[in-house]
Amino acid sequence: MKIHEYQGKELLRKFGVVVPRGVFCPTVADAVKAAETLGGSVWVVKAQIHAGGRGKGGGVKVAKSLDEVRKYAEQILGMQLVTHQTGPEGQKVRRLLVEEGADIRKEYYVAALTDRASQKVAMMASSEGGMDIEEVAHKTPEKILKVFIDPEEGLTDEQAAQLANGIGVPAGSVDRAIATFKGLYRCYMETDASLAEINPLILEGNGNIKALDAKFNFDSNALYRQPEIVAFRDLDEEDPDELEASKHDLSYISLDGNIGCLVNGAGLAMATMDTIKLFGAEPANFLDVGGGATTEKVTEAFKIMLKNPKVKGILVNIFGGIMRCDTIATGVVAAARETHLSVPLVVRMKGTNEDIGKKILSDSGLPIITADSMADAATKIVAAVS
Ligand code: GDP
Ligand code: MN
Repeated sequence: MKIHEYQGKELLRKFGVVVPRGVFCPTVADAVKAAETLGGSVWVVKAQIHAGGRGKGGGVKVAKSLDEVRKYAEQILGMQLVTHQTGPEGQKVRRLLVEEGADIRKEYYVAALTDRASQKVAMMASSEGGMDIEEVAHKTPEKILKVFIDPEEGLTDEQAAQLANGIGVPAGSVDRAIATFKGLYRCYMETDASLAEINPLILEGNGNIKALDAKFNFDSNALYRQPEIVAFRDLDEEDPDELEASKHDLSYISLDGNIGCLVNGAGLAMATMDTIKLFGAEPANFLDVGGGATTEKVTEAFKIMLKNPKVKGILVNIFGGIMRCDTIATGVVAAARETHLSVPLVVRMKGTNEDIGKKILSDSGLPIITADSMADAATKIVAAVS
């Protein structure tokens, strides 16, 4: 689960990380009032969407007067903000953050994250802040420093100092950087984050170290014990199809291809997507109907897949273990009827009550293509859509 920058900064502040004073603003009038209340002569008007790269896309503007605050707030609120993380259609801006301007002397990068390769929590820092970190990793990997953290000890002073010195924080600010890194680490751990990233982390003229941006991802499996994080959830920012799917207890992720797939079990769903790719096509989604799929659930799954105009065919791949093939077959037939299915449908089912399931499909009179092996199924659906 992701949250907005202003929410991330609220969390960071609680853990002692210095952030600019700022006000969350849902309207233009609020933005102007916020700037007045904050005082000073420079403000930053920032689009709040669940994607990075807002600066380059025109979603972050520095204003030098209240008139400019109004102008930028009007420009940004309601705009369809396109960044490298939103995809070409962009994301509509519904919320703003107005902050006091910062006196930026240097921009750094720092993040706490789950490092799968080492199976540890890592803290990563770089002198190249404010830029796309993937680009830094690609072009100048030596400019990214990493320390791995022992969960018993937490991030040590030595490790934090190593990062601060390594990225060139001036001596007079090293203690403040260490405090920031330790606060970031505690924030990451205590909120069950999988990523807590500050880009840029800045050095100000007065030597202060401040978080100018905040990006978080949280482990969804831990949300049950993080009510404070769940309260930050913004449904406007989530994929409407994925949201609809979660209501029906379906695990659904939209992808870019044209073959919809409905599978039981996450592992089989991954293998099915791989097989589709192996046979030269692309899956339109990941969809795991789980172990207890009912006719209703299968119908909902079909509806969600078919809402995607890119879907030119559907592949159903079922292993009947606890789930019986006849139950799925009944669901598939009902779903195909109810959705007036007009794209080719290939069904492969193996396991418990396979024969009864196949008979239900053939007796339905629907133009369902049956398949035996995964290769057979993939060949048939790829041929049917091309
Ligand atoms: P992102 O593009 O979505 O990562 O949004 P950021 O919050 O990182 O903002 C983008 C850029 O705007 C930062 O890298 C800064 O260079 C700049 N920026 C953000 N806040 C301020 C500020 O208070 N003053 C100035 N001058 N620039 C800022
Ligand atoms: Mn940023």
